[in-house]
Amino acid sequence: MDDTLDPADWNAARAQAHRMLDDMLDHLEGLRDQPVWRPMSQGLRARFQAPLPREPQSLDAVHEEFLRDVLPHAGGNLHPGFMGWVQGGGTVAGMLAEMLAGGMNANLGGRDHSAIAVERQLVQWVREMFGFPQSAAGLFVTGTSIANFLAVLAARTRTLGPGVRETGLGGDGAQLCAYTSEAAHLCVPRAFEMAGLGRRALRLIRMDAHQRMDLGDLRKRLRADRAAGLKPFMVVGSAGTVDTGAIDDLSALAGLCAEERLWFHIDGAFGALGILSHEIAPRLAGIERADSLAFDFHKWGQVPYDAGFLLVREEKALLETFATPAAYLKREARGMAAGSPWPCDLGPDLSRGFRALKTWFTLKTYGVGRMGRMIEKSCALARHLEARVRAEAQLELLAPAQLNIVCFGYRGGDNAAIVADLQESGIAAPSLTRIGGRSAIRACFINHRSEIADVDAMVAAVLAFGRQRALAA
Ligand SMILES: *Cc1c(COP(=O)(O)O)cnc(C)c1O
Repeated sequence: MDDTLDPADWNAARAQAHRMLDDMLDHLEGLRDQPVWRPMSQGLRARFQAPLPREPQSLDAVHEEFLRDVLPHAGGNLHPGFMGWVQGGGTVAGMLAEMLAGGMNANLGGRDHSAIAVERQLVQWVREMFGFPQSAAGLFVTGTSIANFLAVLAARTRTLGPGVRETGLGGDGAQLCAYTSEAAHLCVPRAFEMAGLGRRALRLIRMDAHQRMDLGDLRKRLRADRAAGLKPFMVVGSAGTVDTGAIDDLSALAGLCAEERLWFHIDGAFGALGILSHEIAPRLAGIERADSLAFDFHKWGQVPYDAGFLLVREEKALLETFATPAAYLKREARGMAAGSPWPCDLGPDLSRGFRALKTWFTLKTYGVGRMGRMIEKSCALARHLEARVRAEAQLELLAPAQLNIVCFGYRGGDNAAIVADLQESGIAAPSLTRIGGRSAIRACFINHRSEIADVDAMVAAVLAFGRQRALAA
């Protein structure tokens, strides 16, 4: 009876599975009636310090515990009132696809099977979306943090040659330098740390008045580095900065990188999918000229976590950086070991999950036209919030809506305390950032469930908490 982990009674397992599915659908249907977020009590935290389970329990009992302890205290990003950080809301299609992928338990490192064909289909769609050539390759990774890191490794290999894998960075490596803007996400400098180049190799270029990389400053730094005998090799542009949603002048950066023979990488974590909207796509012009592009399907794409993607113009660059011949991974012309190159040749992971399936379901179920309109709705909410902030004497605008993000503050108030009040109230969950050295309330619209009424409820709550705090002071 204990020979396998399969259910002893498939009918009972089926009934339990249906209950679990119904519970989750109920949860999604009723989101609006729940608070955005509920802090965990001390008692609950203590329950997560239980000893290793030695004996089996029923699936039903474990699910009851999940319903009691886990689900009610989730991170809030499903909720329409969630406006913090940059987090996707997930979808029913994505959730169901995750279940199917779990059932298949496919390993997408390699070999010849349908799951790999689905991921290759996604690579083709991504090429088409961004206007990349047929020579481009790509793969799913956890997120843009890792995709940015892999792009740095590929750019390093192209610059120093594949021999760098044998010898390490060496003296030539110490000469490498790269450029991004001060508004770049923190994972960009960390990618340089992890690549062994050191974060000092990455120059943070000044921003212009719209938080875009200042091209004059970039040219100046390039000239100075070349004059000092250093080896500029890479520029990292932003298609949607994390603080304000600024999009660098990607065409100008692409032109400069072509002239200067630099690898042009774009961090498009959330903003790149703006390409699906007719309104936003023109602002991303130049994205099709990048050597590599990192973005996430789990942000504006609403695909359940995690679903990051790296697209690289020349497959060869990934093969030269990551492919490793090994006898046990031997490729054949036929049978299950056919179909080379495999995803494990294009990145560092050998065992890989089926992230492609939830993305395949999402794009097919909703269609890219509808996805583009959903993205436009997020931007319209940001414009609505900007107008509300401009109209309220107590509020001040700190960064206008360039895309889907607005930063603002309560005049004379403690924005950090107001944000914490909001989050604990369960009404809405913006996050906190700094703009020009000042603390700012940051509302970022990614969640497809958010509506005008959610923005208005957030504004009303900011005004109420700000007033309360002013009176108490
Ligand atoms: C979210 C984000 C990242 C990091 O992406 P992950 O998927 O969280 O690893 C990088 N850059 C920008 C601009 C982001 O918004």
